[in-house]
Amino acid sequence: MTELVDQLAVSGNLAGDAFGELLRYRNAETMEYLFEQARATRRQVKKDVLQIWGRVPISNYCKNNCKMCGLRRENQFVKRYRMDTQGIIECCQYFAGNGVQTFLLESGEDVFFTEAYMSEVLTELRKHFPKSKIILSLGEKNRDFYLKMKKIGAYGALLHHGTANSMHFKKIFPANMSPLLKKQRLWQLKELGYHAGSGFLVGMPYQTIEHVLEDVWLLKEFEASIVEVGAYIPTPRTPLENQRSGNGEMTLYILAALRLMLPDAMILASPTLDCVLKDGRVRCFDAGADVLLMDLPDEELLNRYGAYQRKNGRLYLPGDNIEKLTGQLKERGLFQ
Ligand code: SF4
Repeated sequence: MTELVDQLAVSGNLAGDAFGELLRYRNAETMEYLFEQARATRRQVKKDVLQIWGRVPISNYCKNNCKMCGLRRENQFVKRYRMDTQGIIECCQYFAGNGVQTFLLESGEDVFFTEAYMSEVLTELRKHFPKSKIILSLGEKNRDFYLKMKKIGAYGALLHHGTANSMHFKKIFPANMSPLLKKQRLWQLKELGYHAGSGFLVGMPYQTIEHVLEDVWLLKEFEASIVEVGAYIPTPRTPLENQRSGNGEMTLYILAALRLMLPDAMILASPTLDCVLKDGRVRCFDAGADVLLMDLPDEELLNRYGAYQRKNGRLYLPGDNIEKLTGQLKERGLFQ
């Protein structure tokens, strides 16, 4: 199996059977070797420089009804909120005060965030934080919306494709969403000059190894600049709440493979990994990640955003401690 890792490192891809074998027959030896190669690639391409992004969950309203997601429209148990411009600025101020200059503005598909509204928000953010980078993760807005945000100064955009397989997509996502439209939107972001990214969840219900292969190939074909791969976590009060969590080790394995496939990509270490693995987010760096995604130290807000609820309905994660996390990463030879 280590030859497959070598092939992946040299050519940046593998044929279907070989890639399927690499994923299906994962073992400790291959995993260690894959991680070593992923770290070597990061060292060579990124010089082991770490980025830190602060996530600002600006709204938990969503017009959609995806079966796996706690923010789905029909979830009546979520206390909905939407930040105003001042609230968003204050969150960014917290991050900036801790040396974090990249802000990921994230929300459900909130129809309130029109082009006019978000233009004002971004204009204010550019005024307050002229050196910052702003990444948008607001869902499937149209081309004009993203064009306007780019003109104001948005740096990147992240649009999770969910699953690249259309049959799998139909089992999880509602009929008003389409994998084709998602893919078109992704290419559109790229054409508009964004650092464009996508991602998916490992261990989603009904997911097969073949589906995962389609997902990683989509990221490769699209030459994603940003990659966020998390582990599926069953969310209470969703139609899929009784399903199993995704496998954290498998998620790290796929992250490492993606580092070899997309050496230049910004690969995120997402807090969701902490829900399925001890020190999961820090361990993403062992697998070649280079971007630490930080949350605000506001458990009530995170709870309402519903990002990390487990079956018992309690928030699993304590508030983020930037110094502690960066200290753990320094020990691994990474620096800002
Ligand atoms: S996955 Fe995204 S689009 Fe679907 S319900 Fe959740 S927030 Fe809305």
